[in-house]
Amino acid sequence: MENNNFIHDFINEEIAEGKYRADEIHTRFPPEPNGYLHIGHCKALIIDFGTAKKYGGRCNLRMDDTNPAKEDTEFVDAIQEDIHWLGFDWDDRFFYGSDYFEQTYEIAERLIMSGDAYVCELTPDQFREYRGDLTHPAVSPYRDRPAEESLELFRKMRAGEFPEGSYTLRAKIDLASGNFNMRDPVLYRIRYIDHHRQGKKWCIFPMYDFAHPIQDAIEGITHSLCSLEYEDHRPLYNWVIDHAGLPSRPRQIEFARLNITNTVLSKRYLRYLVENNIVDGWDDPRMPTLCGLRRRGYTPESILDFCDRIGVAKSNSMVDIGLLEHCVREDLNVKSDRRVAVLKPIKLIVDNYPEDKVEYFSLPNNPGNPDAGTRLVPFSRELYIDADDFAEVPPPKFFRLKPDGEVRLMGSYIVKYVGMDKNDDGSIAAIHVTADIETGCGMPADGHKVKGTIHWLSAAHALPISAILYDRLFTEENMNDLPEGKSYIDYLNPDSAIRIDGAYVEPSLADAKHGDRFQFVRTGYFCLDSKNPGVFNRVVSLKGSFKA
Ligand code: ATP
Ligand code: MG
Repeated sequence: MENNNFIHDFINEEIAEGKYRADEIHTRFPPEPNGYLHIGHCKALIIDFGTAKKYGGRCNLRMDDTNPAKEDTEFVDAIQEDIHWLGFDWDDRFFYGSDYFEQTYEIAERLIMSGDAYVCELTPDQFREYRGDLTHPAVSPYRDRPAEESLELFRKMRAGEFPEGSYTLRAKIDLASGNFNMRDPVLYRIRYIDHHRQGKKWCIFPMYDFAHPIQDAIEGITHSLCSLEYEDHRPLYNWVIDHAGLPSRPRQIEFARLNITNTVLSKRYLRYLVENNIVDGWDDPRMPTLCGLRRRGYTPESILDFCDRIGVAKSNSMVDIGLLEHCVREDLNVKSDRRVAVLKPIKLIVDNYPEDKVEYFSLPNNPGNPDAGTRLVPFSRELYIDADDFAEVPPPKFFRLKPDGEVRLMGSYIVKYVGMDKNDDGSIAAIHVTADIETGCGMPADGHKVKGTIHWLSAAHALPISAILYDRLFTEENMNDLPEGKSYIDYLNPDSAIRIDGAYVEPSLADAKHGDRFQFVRTGYFCLDSKNPGVFNRVVSLKGSFKA
């Protein structure tokens, strides 16, 4: 992350001014454990962990479980797994926001006593009604309540003596502020709900805007990096830091949220897709979640590279999903071995090849990388080739197999068309060819050129598999700006996962492990699914339209 990162420019200045030593830089990543991490969070966590790493500082992982609803240990575990997968670590600095509830409560009491907070009796509806507008200040009839009275009420709130919505604790800031977040914001509200870690201990919960700066300050965070929607909350963040009486003074810096074409990055939407079985779980290979990308076959390096290339900017923008695909394609091009797969098999019978003979041809694992070695692929009389590699009525410039044509079998013989067998329904049962066995796998005897090369598998040795070809989950580029009355559900791509059964791969894939990635010759990069044996997910096709 050397390029275009304005946050590092800020930090460099502070270090130059002597405000911090580089190794004092301390950030945090504060996910809410109410869903799986998606690639937007990934940008945030790379900024948080990456910044700490760059300066030799530290980054805390803090579960932001301030809001008691919908939090789950399943998500806590998954978040940790995803961060480790990307290669980051928090050492022993793993925290829960809820662990600071007691301290946060004490700070609230102090604010009441210093006249900086008061208990208000406006109901949520009244609160909205009394909020004012740009020309009218908000109104709170309870603002001048004596501190002792507020303290007593606040303690009763904590003791569970009032129903939900009846009382709140509010900061006494500025009812006329142009920034509505500063119009005496609510600091605490009553909720009778079990907290996943605190159980029934609390029935009042701090608001995020109050809890978050306190949590940052308690942990000694120097830079609280967050996405742009928190910009208007920064004055309140600073107000809380100014009034909390904690020694540390973290600085909030906002960066642009990541938006990607043909993608939704809101946990609420993603949760809906999961809960309504529109996708096959949070780790469906079409999901923009980290576990989905992992299951699809994305490498951590390709995701880090993607985040590096989009940089860290101050204004929101839309990133072409083609860039993400480009990054994984580039990475897998170097890393993955080539294998033969025939997705739409038809039989090819080599008439002049002995029936019981098997010979082995050596094919390079990665023609671009001699170090990747070679493997042996069996050849026999009956082969499979891809139906697309034969055309009964060839279009112009068709250099694969056609009636009376010839073609090279990759790494093996040149074969000449002889004829074909048809099924009753007119479909092709088998194509017959003869191979140049005498001249042997090289040039044709007379030296003429053979233009096409196709891939093949020995039918007796090939392993049956299924392949799933993925496409974008949504058909619309800009999913953030849909026409009136339209929902993101209206734009689900019906062809986002096309399953192909009855495909074959070469026998060397017999011991492929879940998560192994290969380039299937001419069809794309594939990854063996982590849940379903014998199912290969297509990570990405070989070529995209994206121009890097
Ligand atoms: P969502 O809107 O998907 O529910 P969230 O912001 O509520 O996301 P959190 O778990 O609170 O989810 O997010 C943790 C961190 O990730 C926050 O600091 C937030 O700023 C950041 N973040 C979330 N979405 C994005 C995004 N699309 N781009 C960059 N950062 C993001
Ligand atoms: Mg959030």
